[in-house]
Amino acid sequence: MFALMQSTRTQSLHLFVDPPSGLRAVVAIHNEQLGPAMGGCRYLAYADDESAVTDAIRLAQGMSYKAALAGLAQGGGNAVIMRGAHVENRAALFEAFGRALDSLNGRFITAVDSGTSTLDMDCIAQSTSHVTSTTASGDPSAHAVIGVFAGIRATAMARLGTDNLEGLRIAVQGLGNVGFALAEQLHAAGAELLVSDLDAGKVRLAVEQFNAQPVTNDALVSTPCDIFAPCGVGQVLSGQSVTQLRCAAVAGSANNQLTTLQVADHLEKRGILYAPDYVINAGGLIYVALTHRGESLSTITAHLSRIPSRLTEVFGHAQAEKRSPARVAQMLAERLLYG
Ligand code: NAD
Repeated sequence: MFALMQSTRTQSLHLFVDPPSGLRAVVAIHNEQLGPAMGGCRYLAYADDESAVTDAIRLAQGMSYKAALAGLAQGGGNAVIMRGAHVENRAALFEAFGRALDSLNGRFITAVDSGTSTLDMDCIAQSTSHVTSTTASGDPSAHAVIGVFAGIRATAMARLGTDNLEGLRIAVQGLGNVGFALAEQLHAAGAELLVSDLDAGKVRLAVEQFNAQPVTNDALVSTPCDIFAPCGVGQVLSGQSVTQLRCAAVAGSANNQLTTLQVADHLEKRGILYAPDYVINAGGLIYVALTHRGESLSTITAHLSRIPSRLTEVFGHAQAEKRSPARVAQMLAERLLYG
């Protein structure tokens, strides 16, 4: 645990238990240089405590990089609430987490993430003001989709020489809040869609509504396409999966897509352009950070519109320096965080 904190330069780790509600939660605060840490609140089942802590630390680091490169005055953090086999009272669990969060005195502000909803954020808001994406402030997914769609066009321009998606084959892995709405936009832009999800019902809907071609979860990664868009879980780009890819570029919403940074070098060697996840998927964080500060929708929209140019800048540096865009994005983010 301490080794991972040191290697990721994570500032602090906070563990919370509340026996009456069954709460077992981890908050990782990665960096507060640019402002209070902000990040998602996950509610998932983990194999063991170490996996939960590792997830919180890695996500917190990604949040610091994401906020820095998006030009937000926020640091990075992340919360993980461990999901048991059975929860007696979900509202009480999230209210207990709100009390835990409040004890950090605003050093960490949280928002929806995998396994949580705006209703859960409402429960957290019963005990603290350090929460956003409540039902009143709104789910950030739609804004994440706007950024990812624009980022896919910028990626197509950099790799294929056109940002016209008409006729491009795009493989969307995961049809959740982001993936499904993204598929809808890609279809409207004339892309040919290949889709997979663990939930067969979501796949059926995409087939019916967007004329998408269903592909099994295992086969999608090796299906020939122009752009592979991971929008389900993280860690989908490993040494093994990268050898299977048959695409020109990878650009999707999932957090922590790379298992290691070396995998990005492998993508580069194979001529596959990688859109760094924390650059392309910053739309959700931009929305929650700016709504929490009371900014207007026009300010948020202006901020979102910078995602494709930021990505193009990263691709430009990468091409000039013959390095992976992932390494360039990390270098730029660390320069902002550590000088
Ligand atoms: P979600 O939970 O609504 O959807 C995820 C979907 O992926 C589900 O339908 C699930 O069944 C599917 N899935 C999971 N594992 C899969 C696999 N192996 N193969 C195919 N499908 C699989 O999540 P979301 O809000 O749509 O977010 C998707 C990803 O984007 C996550 O990694 C999230 O961290 C990231 N992200 C989300 C936002 C946001 O605002 N929602 C913002 C930035 C990044």
